[in-house]
Amino acid sequence: MAVLLEYGTTIGYVINMKTLEQAIAAYDEKVILGSMNLYRSLTLSGYTIQDLEDRNKARVVEQQRLQIEGDKLMKEQRLQAEKDKAAYERIAPRCPDCGLSLMLRSINTPQGKGNKYGYKSLLYCSECLYEKYSRKPADYLYQQMIENSKKEKTNG
Ligand SMILES: [Zn+2]
Repeated sequence: MAVLLEYGTTIGYVINMKTLEQAIAAYDEKVILGSMNLYRSLTLSGYTIQDLEDRNKARVVEQQRLQIEGDKLMKEQRLQAEKDKAAYERIAPRCPDCGLSLMLRSINTPQGKGNKYGYKSLLYCSECLYEKYSRKPADYLYQQMIENSKKEKTNG
């Protein structure tokens, strides 16, 4: 007969065995040897199985706390990324072909074989493959977008 035990979200089965043969049959030999070593170590150090169980419960609770914290942090980062994207889309120039916000990418390849015209940035549309290369750095174009949006606000 198996008894279901719950430690937080981890679940383990305890098997009620009538004979030692059933115990040996129910568990892998490595598990049996490891458990015997663990039990001997515990008793030698003055601990009980209950001490180990309490410690394990505390560990599971701590893992759950860390998981919740990690999920919360990831959610916050995702929300911030969405805010940043929305803020960028408000000031970004529009694609002349489809009207979506153009994405801005820095080009770090120096002028030469791989960058014949010495372009330093690229405005591109992720939807229709429109591209506009520039010799001005991406930081400069980004600052221009901010300045232009300020002007539009004061004018309108
Ligand atoms: Zn487009």
